[in-house]
Amino acid sequence: MATALSSKTDSAGTRRRAERVEQSIVLPARRGKAVRLRAGRRLRLVNPYGVQAVDLWAFVDGDIGEHLSMEHFRSVHSTIFATVDTPLVSNAQRPLLTIIEDTSSGRHDTLLCPCNEPLYRQLGAKPGHRSCTDNLHEGLGELGLVAPFTPASLNLFMSVEVRPDGSLERRLPSSKPGSYLVLRAEVDVVIAFSCCPQDITPINGPERTPRDCLIEILAPTAENA
Ligand SMILES: [Zn+2]
Repeated sequence: MATALSSKTDSAGTRRRAERVEQSIVLPARRGKAVRLRAGRRLRLVNPYGVQAVDLWAFVDGDIGEHLSMEHFRSVHSTIFATVDTPLVSNAQRPLLTIIEDTSSGRHDTLLCPCNEPLYRQLGAKPGHRSCTDNLHEGLGELGLVAPFTPASLNLFMSVEVRPDGSLERRLPSSKPGSYLVLRAEVDVVIAFSCCPQDITPINGPERTPRDCLIEILAPTAENA
């Protein structure tokens, strides 16, 4: 149910727009979560430390075969960065989600694959290291859903640039603590998030420490009821 109007100021003094928050869900460090979001509804993803990478996927609710596609996104918009101006499209070229507000550095990676068990093995991690790929499937499983494949993820708060010679540069994350983005569902979707468990490379910041994020399902307003 809708709770009191939420205009929060975090420890870094970053203020979030006043919104009624219907449900607040902690996205624990190293873990994943999937939520359903009806067409027109919005959610806010908050990054209290600013440097935590969050992998995101979305599937059409009722059709796991239609999902956000990073290759379609790059082809449709001729860019490698997901921003407020670029609706997130499916493998059927349909907008599934739109970033409608973004207080982060504003460039989210569409190039790199979600981390996965073989990657951690190659990095020398102990067996059983958690991964974004596992988190996707665990999150879907909590909703009783099975995806027989792993689409490419949208890597939020992750900074990857292409050098002139075509090689990739993994930059340190640059979003400020308390950065957030608001996503609007364009159709009924299941959205899966993974708080990236990467603690070997500095993709989650130089301290290499995964940290909690927060998902807030926002109450409908007059414009998007
Ligand atoms: Zn990851």
